[in-house]
Amino acid sequence: MECDIAIIGGGIVGLATAWQLGERCECRVLVLEKEGSVATHQSGRNSGVLHSGVYYRPRSNQAQTCLRGRRLMENFCRTNHLPFELCGKVITGSTSRELARLHTLYEWGRANGVQCQIIDRDTLLKREPYAAGNKALLVRDAGIVDFPSVVRRLKSLSQEQGTDVLTNSYVHRAHEESQNIILETDNLTVRARHVLNCAGLYADRIAKLLGQEPDIRVLPFRGEYYELLPRQYCRHLIYPAGDERVPFLGVHATRMTDGRVLCGPSAVPALSREGYKRFTVAPADILETVLWSGTWHLARSFWRTGIREILQSLSKKYHLRILQRLIPAVKLSDLRPARSGVRAQAVRADGTMIRSMYIQESRRVVSVLNASSPSATASLAIGETLARNLMNRLRPD
Ligand SMILES: Cc1cc2nc3c(=O)[nH]c(=O)nc-3n(C[C@H](O)[C@H](O)[C@H](O)COP(=O)(O)OP(=O)(O)OC[C@H]3O[C@@H](n4cnc5c(N)ncnc54)[C@H](O)[C@@H]3O)c2cc1C
Repeated sequence: MECDIAIIGGGIVGLATAWQLGERCECRVLVLEKEGSVATHQSGRNSGVLHSGVYYRPRSNQAQTCLRGRRLMENFCRTNHLPFELCGKVITGSTSRELARLHTLYEWGRANGVQCQIIDRDTLLKREPYAAGNKALLVRDAGIVDFPSVVRRLKSLSQEQGTDVLTNSYVHRAHEESQNIILETDNLTVRARHVLNCAGLYADRIAKLLGQEPDIRVLPFRGEYYELLPRQYCRHLIYPAGDERVPFLGVHATRMTDGRVLCGPSAVPALSREGYKRFTVAPADILETVLWSGTWHLARSFWRTGIREILQSLSKKYHLRILQRLIPAVKLSDLRPARSGVRAQAVRADGTMIRSMYIQESRRVVSVLNASSPSATASLAIGETLARNLMNRLRPD
């Protein structure tokens, strides 16, 4: 099979790019996904939050991509009648450190053009009657989305544009010929002029397969959720002020588009890249993680946080204690274990966690080596940028 661009990975980033390519050019695009359906991994197992852009430093790439991505996602959901709601969120705080963080987020939010305001406890209680916190940042531009529906729609729209989306197509071998890259799955050989690697949790391995030498490793962090049974405890989204060094940490309560309320996630090192259960072990993944110097540097810097996260994963009571800082009325019997997700976090050899999009390019390959949160929110903007990059590559010199 021949194509101009082969995309490895049928998650939200791969399919958003396929669709954006189809909107802009006539090139032949092929998406290869190893699972039997799309959105099986990160894109189908996240918090479902449409991030507003308050968390990112003004004028940073991350802020711009999140803001543009959010607007594109809102339009996409409206046009395609997909479940989404701009319900707003509160980020709560009580201690002086938390209140200082709320003010920083408020400044960043305003500078990024996000609708937000600091509210006092009485106003907070009118919105979220069970939330703790002396003050809160009310972010009106945050919302909830059913990302798996978005991915499925991106798939069908791409197919209407003429893109082949092949599931059950695990890419296990690749080599370069003079004008092409040859990709092999169990039952197909693909000859592509360029390859986009959007393999999420396996992006570093696929980059190596494609002849690149990534300077990061993807470390998997499992996030576990509980369902909060009395739904009235959280009407919209309730978040803690959090820690700037590890912005993806912090148990929050999220109303999903189907009305359920999920609490979590924790973030514990997973023993397998797709280890959704605590004891799913893949020795090759563990070995790779252990042999990466970045793992040890990271562990040295964040061992206290790591222990807290592991406790939270092992003990429902501990998870409850953390959640009660947000919603004090919750009891142990109010929590029912729900699904989990595994985050792909790219880490450098010196232990630095990469926070924004991280892309490595070579002659015929573009690898997305880090697309962590808020990349589901930002996916259509990310897809736009990747599509432009790939179209430039197809232009004759
Ligand atoms: C617990 C959790 C909570 C999150 N919450 C949010 C949130 O609320 N809002 C937000 O904006 N973002 C959130 N994120 C981040 C967001 O989900 C991700 O940034 C986004 O889904 C990444 O999409 P992706 O397409 O890069 O990866 P994925 O969805 O993981 O897709 C990668 C695909 O590549 C495929 N693949 C891998 N190897 C191969 C191979 N060899 N051959 C063929 N196919 C292959 C996989 O099967 C997979 O389908 C969260 C993430 C997690 C894990």
